[in-house]
Amino acid sequence: MQPRDLSAHEAYVPGRGAEEVARDLGMDPEELTKLSSNENPHGPSPDAVAAVEAAAPDVNVYPKASHTDLTDRIAEQWGLDSPQVWVSAGADGAIDYLSRAFLEPGDEILVPEPGFSYYPMSARYHHGEASSYRISKADDFEQTADGVLSAYDGERIVFVTTPHNPTGSVLPREEIRALAEGVADHTLLVVDEAYAEYADEPSSIDLLDEYENIAVLRTFSKAYGLAGVRIGYAAVPEAWADAYARVNTPFAANEIACRAALAALDDDEHLERSVETAQWAREYYHEHLDVPTWPSGGNFVLCEVGDATAVAEATQERGVIVRDTSSFGLPECVRISCGTREETERAVAVLNEVVAEVRPEATEP
Ligand code: PMP
Repeated sequence: MQPRDLSAHEAYVPGRGAEEVARDLGMDPEELTKLSSNENPHGPSPDAVAAVEAAAPDVNVYPKASHTDLTDRIAEQWGLDSPQVWVSAGADGAIDYLSRAFLEPGDEILVPEPGFSYYPMSARYHHGEASSYRISKADDFEQTADGVLSAYDGERIVFVTTPHNPTGSVLPREEIRALAEGVADHTLLVVDEAYAEYADEPSSIDLLDEYENIAVLRTFSKAYGLAGVRIGYAAVPEAWADAYARVNTPFAANEIACRAALAALDDDEHLERSVETAQWAREYYHEHLDVPTWPSGGNFVLCEVGDATAVAEATQERGVIVRDTSSFGLPECVRISCGTREETERAVAVLNEVVAEVRPEATEP
């Protein structure tokens, strides 16, 4: 007995966890600064923690009211009708819902290269195929509508990520409009705003009033500090919002997650602090790292270090976990998440030290 042919499927490569690394190195996880998965260094909102605790005794019941409450609350925030909010287990879950709703077997999607690996994975799960457009280092990872359209060949879904993971580059709003207008009517443009809270650009959610071929992805994993409970959503145009009922996994967004997200949405202070810290840390990385970095709208910065694998291993041995971006096709770079002030300063000191040892010429004038 074998599963279907999965040879085209690749496993997702996550950033390494502190516990896993600590075990390998025989260290205490507390000694490690984990800056490999773009998590919120301030943790979740205390209100979300309280909501999780309060919800715990009721988890024998399927999540119904909490799901409805969260959907309504998000709809209110963006001025949408509730059916336009497709709540899901992380933005990853929303990507699956869009794949399920749009892809017929053999349909193609177009994704950024380098880029977030779950887009093509999800397409393949749904019997689709993926091709890519380049976001080029030679152009400092600039994102433009023309760059996407030059690779576009009528795909059913086109993904753009803004701010982009792992480069941090932002796709300006007028380029998103140009894309929505530049693709064929049957093509859905998915604007992945997983890191949008950290950027200056406004959300594209208001474009749903104007275009029927846009969906916007958001998550509570980053700025809201809820990666561990898996909650996110897609905002979609009214015209086809009712497809959700036909594609969603029953109760995938769980009670704890929905309650945590509801509480987090009301904690402006936690959100502001999270965003401010990330903005400060980005600047700190740009100013103090002895290696080239690229401007980032997210809670991370891409750095050119030479041999990424050697550098990531060496920083890890000194207690700082960064993301080797070889799996994104950038073997000369690492991506480093924004930490607290203390974590960020430590990361800079360690990375500079390691780079000077591994690649001494990097620090020469
Ligand atoms: N989109 C991008 C660009 C991401 O980097 C991530 C998480 N790494 C996601 C979506 C998915 O986030 P989640 O499923 O945690 O909401």
